Amino acid sequence: MQLYLKSTILLSMFYCASGRDTKVILVSMDGFRNDYLGKTKTPYLDNLISSGVTMKYMNNSFVTNTFPCHYTMATGLYPETHGIVGNGMYDPEFASYFTMSTTEPRWWEGGEPIWITAIKHGLKAGVCSWPGSDVSIYGQQANKWISYSQPMPPRGRVDKVMAWMSEDNFDLGVLHFDEPDLAGHHFGPEDPKLIQVIEEMDSIIGYLIHKIESAGLMDKVNLIVTSDHGMTSIDLENKLVDLSLYVNRSLLEAVVDQESTFNLLPHKGREDDVVAALSKVEHIHVMLRRDIPERFHLKHNRRALSVFAYADEGWTMTMNTTQTAELANTGFKGNHGYDNELISMKPIFIASGPAFKVNVTVDPIQSVDIYPLICHLLHIESEPNNGSLERVNSMLKNHSRDGFTPLVTLTPIFIILLLSHLIW
Ligand SMILES: [Zn+2]
Repeated sequence: MQLYLKSTILLSMFYCASGRDTKVILVSMDGFRNDYLGKTKTPYLDNLISSGVTMKYMNNSFVTNTFPCHYTMATGLYPETHGIVGNGMYDPEFASYFTMSTTEPRWWEGGEPIWITAIKHGLKAGVCSWPGSDVSIYGQQANKWISYSQPMPPRGRVDKVMAWMSEDNFDLGVLHFDEPDLAGHHFGPEDPKLIQVIEEMDSIIGYLIHKIESAGLMDKVNLIVTSDHGMTSIDLENKLVDLSLYVNRSLLEAVVDQESTFNLLPHKGREDDVVAALSKVEHIHVMLRRDIPERFHLKHNRRALSVFAYADEGWTMTMNTTQTAELANTGFKGNHGYDNELISMKPIFIASGPAFKVNVTVDPIQSVDIYPLICHLLHIESEPNNGSLERVNSMLKNHSRDGFTPLVTLTPIFIILLLSHLIW
C-alpha cells in the first residue's frame, strides 16, 4: 500500500508538472475594439476583469484584418513569418490567389498554431471557427475542429467547446465569434445599434463562464478573452479613392484588394512607374515592398507583393468603378485593416483563471505574446516565435523567465520523492 501511495504521489506530481492540472480557453470576439466596454453595461466581462487581468488595449499585428491577426495570435509569429499576410493574397511562386476559404496547407505552413504545438506535446486540443481550424498543417489537425466558414450560432459554439473541455477532457479550446465585427461593419463603431450586439456578446461570455462553472472547471481553466482588431468609421461617398483613375490595370499582373490596403504586382520593370503614379494620390501611402516600414513586419514575405499601398484611417481604396458601386451598395459604415498604431485598430484583452493575478491592470502586451503565454500556461515548450514571456509576466501569479516555472519548482520535490521511493 505504501509503495502504491508513493507511486500515486509521483504520478500525480508528474501529471501536474506536465500540464494536466490546467486548461486554457482562448476566445476571440471578432472586431471587439478596446473601448467597446465603455459603451454600455457589460456585467459578465466586468466580472471577468475584476476576477483577473486586463489592459487598456492589446497591440495587434498589421494588416489589421481577421486572418493575419488571428494567425498571429495562434502562432506567435508576425504575418511576414507565418505567411498569412492578408484575408486575400496572391503568391507569385504559387501563381495563385488565396481567399478566406483556402485550406491548402502550403499557404499556412509558415507557422505552427498553438493547437498543433499542444498536440505534439501529448495534450488534446479543439478549435472552433478560428482561421486555419480546418487546415491540415504539417499533416496535423486539432483533435476536434469546426471550420471557420461553417455557420454556427454563438451559444452552439460555446456548447461545442465546453463538451470538448469537459466530456473529452481537452486541455486547450480555441474559440472564435463573428461579432461584434459584422455589426461594426454594418452600423459603424459609433452607432447606438452596436450597443445591443456588445451586450449580446457580453451575455455569451456569461454563458461560457456559466458552462465552465457547471462543469466544475473554474479552478482549472485559464480563460483569455481577446480580439483580432478594432473598427473605425468609413465614408464610402466622400472618402473613397479609385486607384484605376491613376494606374492602368494592364500594368498589373496581380491585384489584391483589401479596401484599406492593396498589394499590387506590376509586370517586371514597371514597379517604379506604378509607385510614381499612385504617389500623387492623397490619403494613401504607396511604396515598393522593400520600403514598407519595418514596424509592420510585412515586407519580408513574397506575398506582400512588390508594391504596397495603405489608406489613411477611414479612407477606402477600390480598383474599378463596378467595385466602387458594389461597395457603395453595401452601405457599410465601418472597417478595419488600417495602421495598427491607430488606437481604433487595437482590440481588448482580458484573462482570468488560476494562473492570473486578480483585479489587476497591466501594460499592453502584443498579440504575438499570446502563443508563448498559452504554452507557458499549459507547461509545454513553444516553437520559436516573435512573442515575449517578459511582457506577460506582470499578469501571472508566478513569474517565469523561461516559461517552465512549475517544472523548475517541482524538480527538487521530484528528486526527494524519487530518492525516498528508491530507498524505502
Ligand atoms: Zn476580424
